[in-house]
Amino acid sequence: MDKNALITGASRGIGRAIAIEFARAGYDLTLCCIKNIEALEVLAGDLEDTYKVKCRAYQADVSKPEAVRDLFAKIDPPSVLINNAGISYVGLVTDMSDEDWKNTIDTNLSSVFYMCRAAIPHMLSEFSGKIINVSSVWGESGASMEVAYSASKGGLDAFTRSLAKELAPSGISVNAVACGLIDTDMNSRLSDEELAEVVSDIPADRIGKPAEVASVILSLAESTNYLTGQVIKVDGGWI
Ligand code: NAD
Repeated sequence: MDKNALITGASRGIGRAIAIEFARAGYDLTLCCIKNIEALEVLAGDLEDTYKVKCRAYQADVSKPEAVRDLFAKIDPPSVLINNAGISYVGLVTDMSDEDWKNTIDTNLSSVFYMCRAAIPHMLSEFSGKIINVSSVWGESGASMEVAYSASKGGLDAFTRSLAKELAPSGISVNAVACGLIDTDMNSRLSDEELAEVVSDIPADRIGKPAEVASVILSLAESTNYLTGQVIKVDGGWI
């Protein structure tokens, strides 16, 4: 299998850590993000210099089907697709606008459909490929004040299990990594007191690191295709 991975949402946080982990392992990379293309281009340049891999950066809003089509028209089709881009929404469901609901579902769930639909034909022709989705423990357990987010990730877990069954006969594996609390900007809204309260419930007694999630994702990318349809929690034993 080619070592050629596409990572969405790679400008910061978990996606950035995944990009570093895969470059270190010798993968050529296609990275995308929605806004901060400057940061992504700097990262791509650093990874090329440090690890001597090919690394291209693109600005693309993966919640939009036409943007995903445009992206795939420009790139080499990936052998490993990592659907990491995501947004959170915190608030009462009764306060949520139609637009906030749609944006959360489109970014966290529909984007994965658009990306997979575009990536699968090449994987089928190679009779190999890995699709790895970045989910959340809330997808299984649900979170108060994060109803849309939890619904999007629960949908993503079901999407993962179903697509795995559809693609297993074609040698393509589909798995998800369901993160617990990971130290990224997504959690910057939490005060130190709120963070300490959450951590007191986590058996590992600490917040997770983006690099820890990235190393699990690399292991999945390098494992047998017989490992498929799984949603693997990386949460310090929390949920
Ligand atoms: P982050 O906010 O630090 O980074 C999100 C990335 O997604 C950014 O690069 C951003 O550009 C990209 N992005 C957002 N919307 C996009 C769009 N429409 N098109 C393209 N790119 C888009 O967040 P993070 O914590 O690194 O989260 C990464 C993934 O991990 C998300 O799917 C998130 O739901 C999941 N996750 C995170 C945590 C956590 O505690 N940090 C927990 C569970 C799950």
